Amino acid sequence: MPVKIHDTLSKQKQPLLPEDGDTFRFYCCGPTVYGPAHIGNFRTFILQDVLRRTLEVEGVKLRHVRNVTDVDDKTIRQSQAEGKTLLDFTAHWTEKFHADCEALGALPPHDEPRATAHIPEQVEMIEKLVAGEHAYVGGDGSVYFKVTSCDHYGELSGLDTSELKTQSTNSAGAANDADEYDRDSVSDFALWKARKPEDGENFWSSPWGEGRPGWHIECSAMSVKYLGESFDLHGGGIDLCFPHHENEIAQSECATGTRPFARFWFHSAHLMVEGKKMSKSLGNLYTLADLEAKGYTPMEVRYALISGHYRQQLNFTENGLKAARSALAKIERSLRPILERLGVSTEEYRDEWIKPDELVTTGVFAPAWDSLCDDLNVPAALGGLFSALSELTDPQLHDSAVAGQLQSLGALLYALGLKVFTATEKPAAEVPEEIAALAEQRWQAKQDRNWAEADRLRDELTAGGWRILDSKDGYEIEKA
Ligand code: AMP
Ligand code: ZN
Repeated sequence: MPVKIHDTLSKQKQPLLPEDGDTFRFYCCGPTVYGPAHIGNFRTFILQDVLRRTLEVEGVKLRHVRNVTDVDDKTIRQSQAEGKTLLDFTAHWTEKFHADCEALGALPPHDEPRATAHIPEQVEMIEKLVAGEHAYVGGDGSVYFKVTSCDHYGELSGLDTSELKTQSTNSAGAANDADEYDRDSVSDFALWKARKPEDGENFWSSPWGEGRPGWHIECSAMSVKYLGESFDLHGGGIDLCFPHHENEIAQSECATGTRPFARFWFHSAHLMVEGKKMSKSLGNLYTLADLEAKGYTPMEVRYALISGHYRQQLNFTENGLKAARSALAKIERSLRPILERLGVSTEEYRDEWIKPDELVTTGVFAPAWDSLCDDLNVPAALGGLFSALSELTDPQLHDSAVAGQLQSLGALLYALGLKVFTATEKPAAEVPEEIAALAEQRWQAKQDRNWAEADRLRDELTAGGWRILDSKDGYEIEKA
């Protein structure tokens, strides 16, 4: 059974198999590097990582390309404010982004092209669009894409294009040189922006004079260069669907004459804070460093970010992080005695068993795996994982059967990108051993429904200055 996801374009579940019968080609819009990425950005990047890992476990050969936007209004403005060259400034934030990705267990893409390293490719694509009368030089010297020249403009986002047919300017009567705009101001958009004084040293020469590329064209030029004129899957946060992805489709297909630009589209819903999208402009963001400063590990953050279905918004709360901590601790707690029984150390399991192969799709982890393959249902997969883990403690099971299942669990954990026996090291180290042991006994008593003993142990912990916080799947210990 191939992995399936909901494709935004066809509005149907589609099987993810390589069109060319060999390599599955996956393009993702990457970060704009002008500050630390926030965990909303990482929700999207990590869900893309889970999809990539799931395909790998399924044996799909894959090429993953993700760009770095290192030139736009924001990067230019901020580099100038800090008195740095655009290159130095964006290199610093790209490095920071890589470090966060690594901590969060996101695999590096196979190619990671930067916009400023691909100016000739972008110019060449714009030249084709001008030659094909899909683009024109505006009164301000910038080059604009003519949206009415693309008869299927708006298909991805379900835009009503009837109004568009006669409109080459927005409601304010101007062509649009902003990179981001909403549906109300659909209009021709900038492919090449004529040099302005505020761009400083950041300009390149082109057949239309000095300037710089608009934002949308970089993804078209680089995806076509690294993956070909038509590739399998394109991903991004749902906010990119319009106008960015709509513009990518129009300019790519009009330049190359090849349809479809991307066969399928994978959009993830937003990480929210109190009902609003987490975003830099709203100032309601958390970075990984913010959460580490609060005592959470990157694995706990990863778990929290993947714990909701990708097509549904996820509300970010500290309780979500606490639940992630408990859940990871529960996986480790359940695994420890099973590994002990097999004589496998936790380190050996972590380092050698969590890998993409050895998935047994008929065992106790099969329902979890099926959930993951069916529209990347991570919450259902996690539920299935916990049920299967409890089945493995059955003493009737033969050691070899348990070992086989643990190998399957390793493949499932690999797909989710969850590295166990590292995730809770930090908080656990702060709790004295005898307290951790008492808490564990109390948890066990609760599992055995021995309420009196559980209460007695809780009192003992309270007297010692520790508080226990229970959740559905586990508990946490805190200094009272
Ligand atoms: P940017 O660096 O702003 O270009 O964004 C990088 C990626 O993060 C894009 O795919 C965005 O759609 C995505 N993104 C931005 N904010 C959020 C959010 N609050 N939740 C999920 N994804 C987001
Ligand atoms: Zn893009």
